[in-house]
Amino acid sequence: MSAAPLPSEAPLYCDVSLPVPLDQAFTYRLPETLRHRVRVGCRVLVPFGTRQLTGVVLETHSHPPASTAREALRLLDEEPALDPGLLKLGRWISTYYCAPLGETLRAMTPLAADIRHSRVYSLTTSGRDAARQLSLSSDDKPDAASEVLRLLDARPRTATYLAGKVEKSSSLLRSLEKKGFIRSEDTAADRDPLRASAARLRVEFVTRTEEKLPKLERELLAYLELHPGEHNLATLEATFPKASAGARSLARRQLARLALEAVSTNTTPPRLPHAPNAHQRAAFDAIQSALAVRRFHAFLLEGVTGSGKTEVYLNAIEAALAIGRGALLLVPEIGLTPAVAGQFHHRFGNRVAILHSAFHDSERAQEWRRIRAGEASVVVATRSGVFAPVRNLGLIIVDEEHDQSYKQQETPRYHGRDIAVVRARDEGAVVVLGSATPSLETRYNAESGKYTRLSLPERIEQRPMPKVAIIDMRKEFLESRKQATFSRALIDAVVERLDNREQTMLLLNRRGFSSFVACRACGERMQCANCSVTLTYHRRDRRMLCHYCNYAERVPDRCSKCDSEFLQFIGVGSERVEQELSAAFPRARIARLDRDTVSGKHDYETILSGFREHNYDILVGTQMIAKGHDIPNVTLVGIVNADVGLGLPDFRAAERTFQLLTQAAGRAGRGNTPGIVLIQTVNPDHYAILCAAAQDYEKFYVKEIEFRRLMHYPPFGALASVLIRATNEEDALSRSAALGRLLNPAPGGVRVMGPAPAAVARLKNEFRYQLLLKASSRKRLNDLLGEVRRFAANEKWNPASLAIDVDPMTLL
Ligand code: ADP
Ligand code: ZN
Ligand code: ZN
Repeated sequence: MSAAPLPSEAPLYCDVSLPVPLDQAFTYRLPETLRHRVRVGCRVLVPFGTRQLTGVVLETHSHPPASTAREALRLLDEEPALDPGLLKLGRWISTYYCAPLGETLRAMTPLAADIRHSRVYSLTTSGRDAARQLSLSSDDKPDAASEVLRLLDARPRTATYLAGKVEKSSSLLRSLEKKGFIRSEDTAADRDPLRASAARLRVEFVTRTEEKLPKLERELLAYLELHPGEHNLATLEATFPKASAGARSLARRQLARLALEAVSTNTTPPRLPHAPNAHQRAAFDAIQSALAVRRFHAFLLEGVTGSGKTEVYLNAIEAALAIGRGALLLVPEIGLTPAVAGQFHHRFGNRVAILHSAFHDSERAQEWRRIRAGEASVVVATRSGVFAPVRNLGLIIVDEEHDQSYKQQETPRYHGRDIAVVRARDEGAVVVLGSATPSLETRYNAESGKYTRLSLPERIEQRPMPKVAIIDMRKEFLESRKQATFSRALIDAVVERLDNREQTMLLLNRRGFSSFVACRACGERMQCANCSVTLTYHRRDRRMLCHYCNYAERVPDRCSKCDSEFLQFIGVGSERVEQELSAAFPRARIARLDRDTVSGKHDYETILSGFREHNYDILVGTQMIAKGHDIPNVTLVGIVNADVGLGLPDFRAAERTFQLLTQAAGRAGRGNTPGIVLIQTVNPDHYAILCAAAQDYEKFYVKEIEFRRLMHYPPFGALASVLIRATNEEDALSRSAALGRLLNPAPGGVRVMGPAPAAVARLKNEFRYQLLLKASSRKRLNDLLGEVRRFAANEKWNPASLAIDVDPMTLL
């Protein structure tokens, strides 16, 4: 390295946006080694108080800051993680959703969490001296500090490793670091594939060595040298026992290379492209023409269930690739199954990258880098994938655009579908929002000309829509004189499927065994200790469980209030449906799909593919079973209780119910045998249920949009919720009252409702009060929310105590 002075243009400082709830950037001095490398959009590791944080560089410059700047520690990206377009999008999100920029940018880059978790400690020179001293002195049982020094003397260790070896390791490490005995470094562990399982790893020979290796490593290295190319570790284990351990060790010595398998999940047979029908062709033609113009254009693709929307997506993506542009397909959380991923792999090979929140951080990081490098130009992703750094993005598709999982429920509370539209507008891309049951907002945008509406009004091959019957459970009760879970008609229908070897899906949008436990004598309902909600009885665990905070309790023998021993289990959950089914149909093979039976992505797919292969006759489940699945042999869909959700205090209750029932009904009769749907309800006259039974979106829309207009709910006017949380009820009350005074009288065009206790007034031991703001102008709403934030900052409220949700998807 030469000692020549740096060229004058090399910046001396950088302004960094950090993931803290503050609205400012922080200036850091750039060490000489970084001056030429740090660019806007790169992530850097910087000291912040006593911590080290990863932030995004917003600017580089040479203006000395007012106070002395600390030095940036490390550069994490040689290439910017966020290009200027994504940075601009981040700023937009931060303003629109009233979220700090630093937290927004962190949410847009997938690797941050990984980096934070992998701190590595090593000894400094004085630490090494101290360690040597220790080993010479007494042989008493060493204290924790000496133990740490001893461990680190052997080699650097991760924080996680040390935490497993000594107690209170984090405070100990901090103090040793302060004393100058040890130092820490954040490793970019996303580059470290060593933590992935054997099945997900490939190994390849790199070089020989003069070093003396243990037997296993020596033999494996020789084998790899003789068999050039990449080997899957799990496969290798078949011929080479312990290959996985050996390969990891070789990789650590840099004699072999480990890499993650590209995420490929081909459990589905390849599907040949279909010749599109007339409606599909018309939709495709419109999208293709818009692509050719290379300007922003938004479409709503409204297609009934089974109308072949996926085929239109695939063709549109092909068209985007053909003109040299990248494509992004967003799917709901639960919609990204190996079957879906498989279809895309078959069609586009390794140009596809998959980003799924269920994947390991390092897998996601690897996919993300392939996208940024331009190796993958088709991205299939869940919500946060809307920020994927796709090169030359030409097309964004949002499948099931009405799905709630597109809304992020923590800061920044963005809506993935809306971000898709904004991003497409910024990048001059085409955006396609697809659904059989579009959200009121989207359909209204199509109505008012903001989006172009394309429609697929018929099922593929003109298969009939399923026949739907509503079963009035009040009448059923009067006639049968018993409170049964299944009506006689539903039982008959199930029997018929079993006889014909056809399959049944039963939906009940409530998990657990019974919805709550109540005392027959005094009416007391068993409540969560931390939340103001009733506990749900889960029979398998013999416990009552809180669905909000996971608090669990044994079912008591007696009522805690009146000591009566008569406790009653009220309401039906999916677990109970499954049990009653097994009792009613002992021959039937039954599977259940809900959050209790699915803990990882594999369980979900195992159950579903088992059902697809007809290992089960009946699939019982919550809304998880309603989405997107295409299983031809299902000819009966039963909705056990259509009323769950209808009574919720949320203006979207009707819309949700309509969507859920319509989507669930759409699972029936997708093969050659027509399907039927039975909806059990005690509200047979409700328009959401009637319209869903008629599969009549149009009618529902007309009715619902009138209600929204009348009540000034979205899409008429903008809505925001302001939630105040505190462990102390007094604080929650006084703060929400203070906001009430600040916001009242409200400026013209804004209506403020509340403060009032939130629908769940206590959650995880916090008291919650809510204000709802309805505004005719988006700008006014935003200004007012800005005022709220400034007020909270001036009053020095803990940032976590104020949650602002712009365009909230749920008011609960
Ligand atoms: P949607 O998403 O609209 O509910 P899908 O895209 O799942 O519908 O399509 C339903 C079924 O129809 C799939 O099995 C698909 O392979 C098939 N399909 C789609 N387009 C055609 C076509 N043009 N000809 C024949 N079959 C098709
Ligand atoms: Zn009681
Ligand atoms: Zn709880």
